[in-house]
Amino acid sequence: MTTAPHPLVSRARQLADDLLAPYAERVDQEGLPESHIEAVKRSGLLGVGAPVEYGGAGAPSAVAREIAEILAGACCSTWFVQTQHHTPVKLLADSRFPVRERLLRPLATGELLSGVAYAQVRAFPRVLVRATPERGGWRFDGTVPWYTGWGLNDVMLLAGVSADDEVVFAATEAREQPGMRPSPPMKLAALTAGRTVSLQLNGLWLPEDALVLRTPQERFALVDRPRNTNVSPAVFGVAYAALGLLESAPDATETARSLRSHLDSVRQQAYALADHPVPHERVDERLALKTRAHDLMRTATTAAIVAVGGRALTLGNRAQRLAREGMFLLIQGQTAQVRQAQLEALRTSVPSMSGESARRE
Ligand SMILES: Cc1cc2nc3c(=O)[nH]c(=O)nc-3n(C[C@H](O)[C@H](O)[C@H](O)COP(=O)(O)OP(=O)(O)OC[C@H]3O[C@@H](n4cnc5c(N)ncnc54)[C@H](O)[C@@H]3O)c2cc1C
Repeated sequence: MTTAPHPLVSRARQLADDLLAPYAERVDQEGLPESHIEAVKRSGLLGVGAPVEYGGAGAPSAVAREIAEILAGACCSTWFVQTQHHTPVKLLADSRFPVRERLLRPLATGELLSGVAYAQVRAFPRVLVRATPERGGWRFDGTVPWYTGWGLNDVMLLAGVSADDEVVFAATEAREQPGMRPSPPMKLAALTAGRTVSLQLNGLWLPEDALVLRTPQERFALVDRPRNTNVSPAVFGVAYAALGLLESAPDATETARSLRSHLDSVRQQAYALADHPVPHERVDERLALKTRAHDLMRTATTAAIVAVGGRALTLGNRAQRLAREGMFLLIQGQTAQVRQAQLEALRTSVPSMSGESARRE
């Protein structure tokens, strides 16, 4: 028996087919147009995990994952800009501060799009952004190395670390303001379209009612650290998109079939673990599946380039775009633990040349 897809999955599919995939190569080269952001805002997808009583869909994680796969497979830049939004929504939904009533509804309904600047707190005990209580609010100083969606999103959720080792999250408008200066948008090997900047913070002051979360760093890390041991659904999205290219090359169908069966199996195991109720358990298994999924994504995007041939190297070609986007996904949300697991897997995956060199001697 087949069940009907969740309405938001159908909407994601339609958005992907009608807008995101047809323009993906152009977006990759020219940047994300405002019209893409407006379409995402109108789609209802920004509220997928948000509480129903605030205008969201309150959909289960499986639905959010399927949507992420569809969007990332169609246009990774659009997926990446909108994926930032889901962290602020989650933090606001869990917030005990008044900002929840002010911002959760417009974020859940897609009236406003939010970005997030928080990867820097993972560098603790190195502090890149210091948050200091001042004049009944919070002052932020330091450098945000990465902030995606500059000029595209409306709200920014900013994180810093206090002198008492608390992680402090506060919401502000995503625009230049006293104490906050953006770099020019970065030119990157992939996802330049997402308008990523770094931010210099020099006495940015935010009022107390901007506060979203204040919690000891240790407690924050306990929840945050295991999150990235799971496979990002975007990895499957890009890998399946590459398989789509392979499947349209007549002599590559066997390669595509074999890769698809491995990918389906890893996906099923990875999502079963992602749904496991204790996020910090079975970490070694999660990391093994993550590195395996990365291997398969790299293989699939490489195979697509081989199958397409010379044309694959033109900047308007889908195969090279997917390969570059796959490269980005290898380091997205990287932590020391994930980095170590990936490097270890890469070390042990190098085929031994000893037999061959022995024969030559
Ligand atoms: C294009 C792009 C856009 C991004 N946009 C955003 C955004 O909008 N918001 C956001 O919050 N983040 C964003 N990020 C950050 C991203 O999600 C990752 O967190 C980031 O790429 C990993 O951090 P880093 O590269 O700055 O590495 P680092 O912080 O240098 O390292 C990552 C981890 O590895 C560890 N590490 C590094 N070197 C070593 C070493 N030699 N030995 C042991 N451990 C080590 C570090 O301690 C850290 O935990 C973006 C990144 C990119 C590339």
